Amino acid sequence: MTECLFCRIAAARAPAKIVFTDETAVAFLDIQPHAPGHLLVVPRRHVKTLAELSESEVGLFFRAVQKLAEAAIWAVGAQGLTLGINQGEIAGQAVPHLHLHILPRFVGDGGGSIQAVVVNPPQESLEKIQQKIQAQLIA
Ligand code: 5GP
Ligand code: ZN
Repeated sequence: MTECLFCRIAAARAPAKIVFTDETAVAFLDIQPHAPGHLLVVPRRHVKTLAELSESEVGLFFRAVQKLAEAAIWAVGAQGLTLGINQGEIAGQAVPHLHLHILPRFVGDGGGSIQAVVVNPPQESLEKIQQKIQAQLIA
């Protein structure tokens, strides 16, 4: 099977402006940045979705995200952050290797809040959806 683009970057077989590596995660600058300091954080192991990470991988992955988010803010003098994962083609996932975007935010940067990416309020009641999600969590 051919390696995906982010597997190759994580293994240093493709070029990228890497800012962080450890045994679980690699972070590098997005090649088409939407903000100064726009970073992608990827797990070393090829997975497409968050659900495929093991419990220890997910802990280490988000610890790296926490450190990188703070570093990015200070490095570029941002006033805030947007963090996001596009999971699945419908959500805009163009590279089928899990990646979390760190987007430093600035006054007047033209962006909005993350919930504005979708406008699809539910037909069911909040109580019904609450029950369905709770049922999944104990299944
Ligand atoms: P997605 O839409 O899948 O969440 O975002 C994929 C991101 O990967 C895009 O923001 C795109 O600019 C970035 N990207 C695509 N190819 C490369 C590459 O070769 N190198 C780097 N550093 N970023 C890339
Ligand atoms: Zn991959």
